[in-house]
Amino acid sequence: MAVKDYIRERFFPHIWCPGCGHGTIMNCMIRAIESTGIKKNDIVLVSGIGCSSRICGYLDFHTLHTLHGRALAFATGVKLSRPELTLIVPMGDGDALAIGGNHLIHAARRNIDITAIIMNNSVYGMTGGQYSPTTGYGNFSATAPYGNIDQSFDIVKLALGAGASFVARTTTYHVTSTIEILEKAIAHKGFSVVEIISQCPVYFGRKNEFASAVNMLKYYRTHTTPIGSKMKKKYPELIERGIFIQEERPEYCSEYDKIIEKAHKER
Ligand code: SF4
Repeated sequence: MAVKDYIRERFFPHIWCPGCGHGTIMNCMIRAIESTGIKKNDIVLVSGIGCSSRICGYLDFHTLHTLHGRALAFATGVKLSRPELTLIVPMGDGDALAIGGNHLIHAARRNIDITAIIMNNSVYGMTGGQYSPTTGYGNFSATAPYGNIDQSFDIVKLALGAGASFVARTTTYHVTSTIEILEKAIAHKGFSVVEIISQCPVYFGRKNEFASAVNMLKYYRTHTTPIGSKMKKKYPELIERGIFIQEERPEYCSEYDKIIEKAHKER
């Protein structure tokens, strides 16, 4: 199918600012889903609130636009009642890690078969540029005009520590690998977390001396490196990208089915 077959054109033009990374990620999602061969009718997209969550309105799958931070809770309910469906949850960093942080770690711990896409632009864009759990120490935001004193969550380490069985990081600059990673994450049976470092030139970029979205993309190119590269050894401050874990583990819905079977036998 063509990209436009996945889009609800009636909701365009979209609300995203020029240069925003969310459009790139939406395009990567479409291409990844197309590569998996999963039928449109078998895919459910669930989002919370934020600029990134608008993806649920723009893509033509079964979609639920829910409460801030609660997308994974809704997605868990859908998956448990219809485990044959493919669940994808696009979230922003605030949505996934602050308001929805608890849902994220418990979904990871259970290893429920859902793909969580965390679009990390280090700021709350929709509500005016407040600092988020990934803004970073010393960076500026609407609510940190003298510099942020909170340390950042490392999304990859958080997901690994919480028990996600597929964890990856990529950026909006690395489009080809983003598509490949998303395809693998969606196909993976278990909880997948994909962090996509993405640009909000309007609120994060302007406050932190990035003159344009292009400069932010160049930064992602020069400040990241593939996992375990020689460059990482030489420059340990580089951010690693790639797949950190891809492991088969008991999946929550399958385990739940076994409990139902046991309970039926004991009647
Ligand atoms: S405010 Fe930031 S995240 Fe929101 S649409 Fe604009 S550029 Fe994108």
